[in-house]
Amino acid sequence: MLELSGIPLLSQNRDRHPIIIGGGPLMLNPKPYEKFFDLIVVGEGENALVSILKMMKALKGEDRITRLKALDAIDGVYAPLLDKDRVRRLFVEDLDTSYHPVHPPIPVVGSIHNRLNIEISRGCGNGCRFCLAGFIYRPYRERSFSKVKELIDKGMRNTGFEEISLLSLSSGDYSNLHGLISYIRDTYKGTSVSLPSLKIGSLNEDEIGILGNIARTGLTFALEAISPEIRIRINKQIEIDGLVRNLSFLRKLGWRRIKLYYMVGFPWEEDDDFKNLREFALPFEKEGIDIILSLSPFVPKPHTPFQWLPMEDESILREKIFMVKRILKGKRVRVKYRDIETSIAEAIVSRGDERLSDLFEFLVRRGAKLEAWREFFNSELYNEWFNTMGIQKKEYLRGRELDEKLPWDFIDTGVSKGFLMDELRRAQNRQLTMDCYSGCAMCGLNCDAMMEHKAVNIERIELKPSASESEAQKSNQGFRYTFRYGKYGDARYIGHLETINLLLRAMRSAGISIRMHGKYHPMPKISLSEALPVGIESTCELIEIETDMGVLVYDKMVKEINRILPKGIKIIEFIKGSIPNMVREYSYILIAEKEVDMLLWRMQNKKGRYFYIWKGRGVKGLLTKGIFTRIIKMEDRRIHGIRVDY
Ligand code: SF4
Repeated sequence: MLELSGIPLLSQNRDRHPIIIGGGPLMLNPKPYEKFFDLIVVGEGENALVSILKMMKALKGEDRITRLKALDAIDGVYAPLLDKDRVRRLFVEDLDTSYHPVHPPIPVVGSIHNRLNIEISRGCGNGCRFCLAGFIYRPYRERSFSKVKELIDKGMRNTGFEEISLLSLSSGDYSNLHGLISYIRDTYKGTSVSLPSLKIGSLNEDEIGILGNIARTGLTFALEAISPEIRIRINKQIEIDGLVRNLSFLRKLGWRRIKLYYMVGFPWEEDDDFKNLREFALPFEKEGIDIILSLSPFVPKPHTPFQWLPMEDESILREKIFMVKRILKGKRVRVKYRDIETSIAEAIVSRGDERLSDLFEFLVRRGAKLEAWREFFNSELYNEWFNTMGIQKKEYLRGRELDEKLPWDFIDTGVSKGFLMDELRRAQNRQLTMDCYSGCAMCGLNCDAMMEHKAVNIERIELKPSASESEAQKSNQGFRYTFRYGKYGDARYIGHLETINLLLRAMRSAGISIRMHGKYHPMPKISLSEALPVGIESTCELIEIETDMGVLVYDKMVKEINRILPKGIKIIEFIKGSIPNMVREYSYILIAEKEVDMLLWRMQNKKGRYFYIWKGRGVKGLLTKGIFTRIIKMEDRRIHGIRVDY
């Protein structure tokens, strides 16, 4: 990207070029990337970005070094060329006053993360000793219940998404999750909720019950290890029996599949530690619930108590993964595992030093890209670089001495190195450490004030459906409306299902509540006219919806729907009633750049373009011939100036 933009790859070769800024979790060990960036932001960047932009504005016209020196003075920010010896990680103290987007882009075609994402909390107080995010996003901070509701309302008004994801490192720990999911259930009917991976035991029966009605995605739990011995060492305090006890309830609510994250390669692991997996899978099998076991090799990460541990040998990791597969053979368990070579590369890079910037340059020059996709990852290139440089890979994979200088030591996360060492010792001595929700283990951050929202959120606000909503739920009656909509220009390439999704989103965002049907996977109650082939425009497509009793559609709402719809899709009119009341005869107007020698009825010839009319089937065939530049479906009665009695 840099070279395509005409910007030198290395910071030292830039002059009047844009300032290239690095950020995100990788920059908690920035040495391998320093050569490529003019500026690095360490930690949460939303406030730093504002300071950087203000400074850039004030220094407009100044030379590069003057600008870099000024930017380097901003807290949590440094310019690698200037060699700062200590950089403190930034974190936002109050999530309520920090920026949260409520106008996300709405994709016109299906994509991943195709939903409204709302961050409910940041950081995690569980203290799992292997977890990078658990240490570099400390302390745990919650967005207040009222703020999260406000963000949901604004986001839904702007998007009408059919799914809301409540983001957090451990959503089940949010102190008023019950209130939040009840609010979504009662306010945005038919909208599903998804939660990222959950800590086992973090949801109560009530919460599972509500989720059972409004979650359309599967449940994912972070199990990490089956052996209690290993769970103590990694400080994973979960009660597996609680999950097992709830299985029949989960099944009753419609869940047939559960995903579990699992790790292999901890230094204390023995073959016996995997034995119980088969027994663990039995109750799932009994309840008819399939398990997807997602295995990842343990990668020791910087800034965690396990930063001094070695990465397990590649061949042993392979053996362990195959052992897990063998143990679970014949059970209703699908074992998926992360590629070991990629994990080894991850270990090298995450605990790497400045020498690795040469490796990245080498990879770029040799055409490496999109390496997170297995099919693009080429470990041979890595081996070639290590051989050429005479560096042993195991230098990066080995355990480190406690008094050894580490490449990331100059980054101050706020968690003291003494605390990390204590935590490592506690792991070696089989001792648990309390989580931040139960008390403070004195990690060095002194974060008392930031836990205030949690206390506020704990006062649960009970939400009940409003009188008219309860009435509507009891009643089987709803109102039917049919909308005639058009699709023009580039929008003709948006597929039928995607068009329907866009229309439903725009309707929801305009405040129209569409009725749902189906217990486990509720779907909107809608009917559609025949699907319009991709590539054909239309002025007469129909969608019928059923709304809850008491929700009337009026003109202002249609204006609002049209405001939200992408260019090229537009509601033209609506009637109260069903599709049959609106179905009319239609024809197609065909436009060509030159005269077409076909048995078609020619309308007129205007500005060198030839217009024809087609009625009946087979229009798709005309489209694929590539003769016509546009084909537009129209109601017969709307084709003016010509006779329509063929
Ligand atoms: S200071 Fe205490 S409560 Fe805060 S993150 Fe550290 S251990 Fe947890």
